Amino acid sequence: QILHEFLDLKGNIRVFCRIRPITGGENFGHLRPVVASNSNEVVLKLMDNKTKSYNFDQVFHPGSSQDQVFTEVEPIIKSVIDGYNACIFAYGQTGTGKTFTMEGSADTPGIVPRAIEALFKQAVDCNHAFLISFSMLEIYMGNLKDLLVPKPTKVTDPMAPCLSIQADPKGEIVIGNLVAIEVNDFNQALRLYRLGCRLRTTASTNSNLTSSRSHCMIRVAITCFDAAERRRETNKLWLVDLGGSERVLKTKASGKRLDEGKAINLSLSALGDVISSLQRKRHHIPYRNSKLTQVLKDSLGDDSKTIMLVHVSPKEEDLCETICSLNFATRAK
Ligand code: ADP
Ligand code: MG
Repeated sequence: QILHEFLDLKGNIRVFCRIRPITGGENFGHLRPVVASNSNEVVLKLMDNKTKSYNFDQVFHPGSSQDQVFTEVEPIIKSVIDGYNACIFAYGQTGTGKTFTMEGSADTPGIVPRAIEALFKQAVDCNHAFLISFSMLEIYMGNLKDLLVPKPTKVTDPMAPCLSIQADPKGEIVIGNLVAIEVNDFNQALRLYRLGCRLRTTASTNSNLTSSRSHCMIRVAITCFDAAERRRETNKLWLVDLGGSERVLKTKASGKRLDEGKAINLSLSALGDVISSLQRKRHHIPYRNSKLTQVLKDSLGDDSKTIMLVHVSPKEEDLCETICSLNFATRAK
């Protein structure tokens, strides 16, 4: 029933909002809470007792569990088995819980491990043969990097494989040289995922900073065979931990930090433009404006399913960024 609603009634793009809890190190005692919510609405408490509210398909309050989040996300897995491409994005300011939602921790796994596990389980339940492959890449300053290939020692290593984005005659996006490893079970996929995560964080001296300035993208592709063992098309599930959405020009960033921030801001606004054009059924969808939207072109559109999970902070000092994120999310509806 829920699946039916998801596929037929609610359209192809759903927007969720998750509010981060206050964590241990934060002294919140003297601060007033500025973000309230119910299951479909986020209410901001502004100055002079004013409020502003935003509606979403689903809102996760600070106490929501990873289980509760995944329950709402899970129907998209079935649509991948049924022949759709799909994307799940985590959007928001740095520190609002995007990586917590996607990756999670050892005892509270996030959407990525749960989604891969569910995909295997549902594929097995179909009783037909299938193949699943795993890929992982990062987009940093407009460049694509394979996260399953160890970094070349020199930045200018001429042997470093260069990832390129092309469309095949059927319009399917092919990322040239991207490693796709066939995985036989969930644990194999999980090991590759951990490898990719490690490669991502060891690649820089200040991993937290860099990881918030790049997009981390996981692609799980499934090819199903019919009863006659004939190959059906391959469908893709993209799981994306986006770079932090904070506006760099407002911070005092300079030099490299500023360039990184600008690159992220540009690609996030390109993503917003694509989603908003799709929702408004525009004739022209501006996929070409960023690498992010080029990579996702065949997985972000009429025959695809998308979930955008917008993350916000509960803190008053973050209110400006929270408003920006909620406005971004509202454009996507
Ligand atoms: P981001 O990836 O958006 O920069 P993180 O996922 O790294 O943010 O989250 C920042 C901090 O807040 C981390 O220490 C994370 O464990 C914690 N955190 C975020 N969301 C939650 C949550 N829903 N429950 C518990 N801790 C959370
Ligand atoms: Mg993160």
